[in-house]
Amino acid sequence: MMDDAPTDGLVVVLTGAGISAESGIPTFRGPEGYWVVGSRHYRPMELATAAAFACMPDDVWGWYLYRRAACRAAAPNAAHRALVELERRLGERFLLVTQNVDGLHLRAGSSPGRTYEIHGNIDFMRCARECTTALHPLPDALGPSWEKGRVLGAAEKALLVCPRCGAPSRPHVLWFDEYYDEERFRFQSSLAAVERAAALIVIGTSGATNLPTQMCHRGAERGAMLMVVDTEPTPFSALAERGSGAFLRGTATELVPALCQRL
Ligand code: NAD
Repeated sequence: MMDDAPTDGLVVVLTGAGISAESGIPTFRGPEGYWVVGSRHYRPMELATAAAFACMPDDVWGWYLYRRAACRAAAPNAAHRALVELERRLGERFLLVTQNVDGLHLRAGSSPGRTYEIHGNIDFMRCARECTTALHPLPDALGPSWEKGRVLGAAEKALLVCPRCGAPSRPHVLWFDEYYDEERFRFQSSLAAVERAAALIVIGTSGATNLPTQMCHRGAERGAMLMVVDTEPTPFSALAERGSGAFLRGTATELVPALCQRL
C-alpha cells in the first residue's frame, strides 16, 4: 500500500557483502565462509556472536584479524566508485546504508556523514565491558596482515585492550546475537530514511539480517521504487518483482555503474 509521506526524491542505497565480493572479500555464503578452531569447523554465524566471544575471545579476535587483513588487502571496485559519484550528484538526496564492515565505501570516497555502517567497521574496537561507547582504531602495531589460523600471542593480546580502562576490547561489529541501536549502528535513522525514500537500491545482500529486512519491507509497503542487484534471487528480489521495482541479475561491477547513471 502506498502512503503520502514526503520523499524529497531521496535515494537510499543498501549494500551487503556482494558489493565487495569482486574486490576479493568473501561473502558469508561463499566457499571461504568457515573457520577452524581446534578440530571444529565454525560457520560465521556461530563465530560472529557475543556468545562465541565470551567463551573463546582469542579465537574470535584471530578470525576478525584475518578478515581485517583481507579487507585491508582489497581495494574498492567500480560499484563502490559509482556510489561515490551518485552521492556527489545527488548530495542530500542520497544515503548509503551498508552491512559491510570492510570500510571499502569510505575508502572509495563515500562521505562518513551519509554512510551508515549498520554492522560496524572491522578497523575499530571498543571496550568489551562498555566503560564507554567510544570507538578506537585497531593499534597500528598489530600490522595489516594476519595469516589464517595464526594464534594470538601475549604481545597482541596486550594491544587489544580498552585504551581508557584497560579491560579487554572487542571488535566494533554487530554480532548475530546482539541488537541494533542508534548511537553505534544508526538503527532509527536508517528506518527514518526509508520513510522519506523515493527509491531503495539494494545491492548484494542475501536478506538474512533484521534491519535490512525491515527497510525493504517498509520501502515496498510505502511504494518506494525497489531495485535489487544480485547474482542470485533473494527475498528482496522477490519483493521487488512483486511491486513496481525490478531485479537486476548480475554482478555489482557489471550493473551498478549503469544503474547509478540512470538515477
Ligand atoms: P551474504 O554473504 O549473506 O550475501 C551476499 C549476497 O551477495 C548474496 O545474495 C549473493 O548472491 C550476492 N553476491 C555475491 N557475489 C555478488 C556480486 N559479485 N555482485 C552482486 N551480488 C553478489 O551477505 P550479507 O547479506 O551482507 O549479510 C551477511 C552478514 O555478513 C552481514 O552482517 C555483513 O555485515 C557480514 N559480512 C560482511 C562482509 C564485508 O564487510 N565485506 C563480508 C561478509 C559478511
